[in-house]
Amino acid sequence: PGTLYVVATPIGNLDDLTPRAARVLAEVSRIAAEDTRHSARLLAHLGVSTPMLSLHEHNEARRVDTLDGYLAAGESIALISDAGTPLISDPGFVLVRELRARGRRIVPVPGACALVAALCSAGLPTDRFVFGGFLPAKPGARRQALEAWSTREETLVFYESPHRIMHTLDALNECFPERAVVLARELTKTFETFLQGTPDALIAQLTQDPNQARGEFVVMVAGAAPVTEREHQDISADELMKALLDEGVGV
Ligand code: SAM
Repeated sequence: PGTLYVVATPIGNLDDLTPRAARVLAEVSRIAAEDTRHSARLLAHLGVSTPMLSLHEHNEARRVDTLDGYLAAGESIALISDAGTPLISDPGFVLVRELRARGRRIVPVPGACALVAALCSAGLPTDRFVFGGFLPAKPGARRQALEAWSTREETLVFYESPHRIMHTLDALNECFPERAVVLARELTKTFETFLQGTPDALIAQLTQDPNQARGEFVVMVAGAAPVTEREHQDISADELMKALLDEGVGV
C-alpha cells in the first residue's frame, strides 16, 4: 500500500519549502490540497505536475474512502494546505485520524508553521505554551475565550484572521491590560515585523501606523504570573486592610 505524506509548504517565503517536500510532491501519485487553485501556483513554481484533488473542511469526511482506495492500490499521496503545516488550524485531522485507524502509513514532512516561527523569535517563554487556534469572531465569545485562558501560566498563542487584529487587541486590553503581548506579522515575507508592548501601547502603535494593522498575524500573550507569586505578592498593611474591607471581611 501507499503512504500518506503530510507535507508542510511555505507561509510566505517560497525558499522555505524543504528539498524533501519538493521531492515528495514530485514523486507521489496525487496531491490532496486545501485549495487546488491556490496550490497550483506553488506546484508551477516547483515545476511539479502531479495531479491534485481538493480536500477541505466541507468534503474531508467524504474524501477518506477515495484516498484510502488510492493508498490500497499502492499510490502514495501528499496532503498540503494553503500555507504552512496541514492540520494546524487547517484541514486534514479527520483524514489522518481515519487513515491511522485503518492502519495506513502516515509520514510527516515537516517545515514552516507560523505558530513555531512566531514563538521562536518573540522573546516570550517557550518552554510551555498554549495554542488557542483562532479566537471566536463575536466580541462576547472572544472575551469569554480569553477569560478562560486567564489563569494559564503558559505563553498564549493565537492565530488571527486579517482585519480583526484591532478587535482582538481591544479584547486583550480588557482581559489582560498589564500583560506583554507580541504581534508577529507577515512572517517570512517582505514586511515581517515583531511588535511588542501592553495591549494599549500596541493599539496606539497600530492606530498611528495603519500599515502595521495589515497582513497576517500570530498573537502571543505572556502567561499569568505563577500562582505562588500571585498569592504571596508583597503588599503593605494598608493595602491588605483595604483588600479585606473591599471583600467585605469584618475587621
Ligand atoms: N497551517 C498554517 C501554519 O502552519 O501556520 C496556519 C493556517 S491558518 C488557516 C492561517 C493563520 O496562520 C493566519 O490567519 C495567521 O494567523 C497565521 N499565519 C499564516 N502565515 C502567516 C505569516 N506569514 N505571518 C503571520 N501569521 C501567519
